[in-house]
Amino acid sequence: MAETLQGKTGEWEMVIGLEIHAQVIAKSKLFSGASTEFGSQPNTQVSFVDAGMPGMLPVLNEVCVEQAVRTGLGLNAQINHHSVFARKNYFYPDLPTGYQISQFEDPIVGEGNIEIDMEDGTTKNIGITRLHLEQDAGKSIHDMHPSKSYIDLNRAGCALMEIVSEPDLRGGDEACAYISKIRMILRYLGTCDGNMDEGSMRADVNVSLRRKGETELGTRCEIKNVNSLKAVQQSITYESKRQLELLEDGEKIHQETRLWDTNKMETRSMRSKEEAHDYRYFPDPDLLPLELESSWVNQIKETLPELPDQKKARFVDAFGLSLYDASILITERARADYFETVSSGRDSKVAANWVINELLGALNKMDLEINQSPVTAQHLGGLLDLIADNTISGKIAKDVFSEMMETSKDASTIVEEKGLKQVTDTGAIEALVDEVIAENPDNLAAYRSGKDRLFGFFVGQVMKKSQGKANPAVVNTLLKSKLNG
Ligand code: ADP
Ligand code: MG
Repeated sequence: MAETLQGKTGEWEMVIGLEIHAQVIAKSKLFSGASTEFGSQPNTQVSFVDAGMPGMLPVLNEVCVEQAVRTGLGLNAQINHHSVFARKNYFYPDLPTGYQISQFEDPIVGEGNIEIDMEDGTTKNIGITRLHLEQDAGKSIHDMHPSKSYIDLNRAGCALMEIVSEPDLRGGDEACAYISKIRMILRYLGTCDGNMDEGSMRADVNVSLRRKGETELGTRCEIKNVNSLKAVQQSITYESKRQLELLEDGEKIHQETRLWDTNKMETRSMRSKEEAHDYRYFPDPDLLPLELESSWVNQIKETLPELPDQKKARFVDAFGLSLYDASILITERARADYFETVSSGRDSKVAANWVINELLGALNKMDLEINQSPVTAQHLGGLLDLIADNTISGKIAKDVFSEMMETSKDASTIVEEKGLKQVTDTGAIEALVDEVIAENPDNLAAYRSGKDRLFGFFVGQVMKKSQGKANPAVVNTLLKSKLNG
């Protein structure tokens, strides 16, 4: 939904473009063999290349290239068979070489597009401008010592994919939906874990305003390194209001880089366009241009998994699920796989219901991921089989399920141990029906004189006497004939 800002002099439209930095899943760094593992002791994963020692030469990691191509394909983007690594020169203490190896004029991936899903069920196509590979910098730590800063180079040299969007987003909701969708696609592809709180995905948010109906872009500000969806939403809200006030007062927006301050909940100027770095890009003389063979790219194409949108469409078409249920099930690949195992050979809608309403609800309460579920997909399937063949009622099944969540036992073991088997024996149920009718002469008279609604009361009483185990269909049939008799 496009967000419109109402000013004193008219309506304004928000225009947003995002640059997402996504850390590539690879065992070693982009140009060195050092490990990329997260959370290790500072400076234990730094090769001479990462530390910028004189005379060290970068060696390109093929896995990172493959991951970038895979991601490009997943974003429906053009794969450039010729790309060039360039040096982006700037000074910063956590950048020992004095330059970052990136890609500038010739990125590995060109234009693409993805569909974002809005909460009201609508979708919108968002253009991808490019994706390029670059090195991450190290980390400066300013809060460990009163007067010194420390530097951890473990992250220095890890491969990042910078994914740049077209300025197609029209509000904070769309920006968040875009990031969520990119994250989902990357996770499906296995090219980035998407953990924003660990910094493996962060975004630069470009925001500008223009008068409603205007087609030219306004002057933008870029908010650097926003690292949660909440911060993306909040910084856009703040920044667009700030720009609105300036524009309404007839002032100009100065193109600049700003920072989001989570504590003060405001964006602050970091540097203006005039102070912007001159990166003096030039092709890295230590690295040859990257040439990809079509056959190699095609091989990667053939191993692409089914992506979220395709999966969603298949869940709707092949399983008859609602778009809403399908969307919930495809959020994570593991969740979709779980559902498919449960639904295989069973009623898909029933399976979807159980996964969404019972399983996901219970996991959420226990704060567990689906791959930590105490109830395996096979066990949940086994429970559904017991309902389908009338061994237990749907109601009892919920109790059995709770027990399964607690004990990880399979359904039939629990049903056996607790004696929960449904009673379908007509004789036994008939005895209960007779008892209930005998115990409630007043209600029987009332029912017979036309109070049909009391039927439910009798059903309830019989079920209660059977401790929930009587087959409801049999109870209904017997009660009908006896009450009317
Ligand atoms: P730079 O590399 O200097 O940041 P780019 O032209 O590559 O500049 O743009 C970076 C991002 O800014 C892109 O995501 C693009 O969509 C977005 N962008 C460009 N112009 C605007 C604008 N006027 N308003 C909002 N976003 C913009
Ligand atoms: Mg930028």
